[in-house]
Amino acid sequence: MLLAGPVGTANAASTATITAAAAAAPAAAKPNVVVLATGGTIAGAGASTINSATYTAAKVPVDKLLAGLPELAQVANVRGEQVFQIASESFTNDNLLALAQRVSALSKQADVDGIVVTHGTDTLAETAYFLSLTVHTDKPIAVVGSMRPGTALSADGALNLVNAVSVAASADARGKGVFVTMNDEINTARDVNKDVNIQTGAFKSQWGPLGMVVEGKNYWFRAPAKRHTNQSEFNIDKLTQLPQVDIVYAYGSVQPTGVNALVQSGAKAIIHAGTGNGSVADRMVKPLQDARNQGVIVVRASRVPYGFVLRNAEQPDDKYDWVVAHDMRPEKARILTMLALSKGASTQELQRMFMEY
Ligand code: ASP
Repeated sequence: MLLAGPVGTANAASTATITAAAAAAPAAAKPNVVVLATGGTIAGAGASTINSATYTAAKVPVDKLLAGLPELAQVANVRGEQVFQIASESFTNDNLLALAQRVSALSKQADVDGIVVTHGTDTLAETAYFLSLTVHTDKPIAVVGSMRPGTALSADGALNLVNAVSVAASADARGKGVFVTMNDEINTARDVNKDVNIQTGAFKSQWGPLGMVVEGKNYWFRAPAKRHTNQSEFNIDKLTQLPQVDIVYAYGSVQPTGVNALVQSGAKAIIHAGTGNGSVADRMVKPLQDARNQGVIVVRASRVPYGFVLRNAEQPDDKYDWVVAHDMRPEKARILTMLALSKGASTQELQRMFMEY
């Protein structure tokens, strides 16, 4: 009834005007996403489709990867940069710094809305954590890899990469930090680790993923609880190197050889990947105390992947001036400790950082 007569006519006229205006208006600009490629299996190639696990990583250049995915154009204006072409087990501190400085520079550009880093899966979680601590931005950064090379049956890299670009291009991902987007999940860089070494569902967060990305849409279920990106106190823009921080692994019959060698070689901190709740074998206590007395920072982490190390529980950390890694795996404890020492943090400050980041 309301649409009948002159009112209906007027509505039809204004609808026509709106339609014409919409046709004349430029299409909404697509977000600009830069893909920084570093190598890994996502750029890998095998001899046959059967080779899901036997192949060469870091082979395919980024432009070829992107050219093979016309779907990306529906999501964003995407351009690639080849930063490195390496397998991630060979990543060094210099690689970390160079990559983070490039991501940081891009994140300051007005014509960049989001950044994707393609990376081998072996040390992907370490790099993602490093970026989350060092890049000061609200813009989404998604780090992504694949467990199978693109040449294999059921290769996972194509969808992982499209999902990463889609998350990096999303307004609703802004301010949520650095993500690892694998297997349709959106994980926060801090929490995620590679927990399986042969399946596509390889990455797990002890505290659960933040959400999922499905057909270009993000579904969020929780937010990161720890400091990252814009709230981070770390700055690597002018850093040219990171301090030497190494890891010693605990096991039955372990001897102090490793600790002593690291102190000799100039390590500034030693992450002790202890058993259980960061336990330290009786014969290792004195060498670690000696290390601390010589100025080396001692961090008690655990080789057990889940849970967290409690301060002053297995060892009197206050008395020995040791630090606990909380829920950080040894290799991620190394990342945070390097950044902390690069700004001259004391053991008290480092302990605070382990609770906050
Ligand atoms: N070793 C490879 C790498 O980390 C494994 C992978 O990418 O899945 O580069």
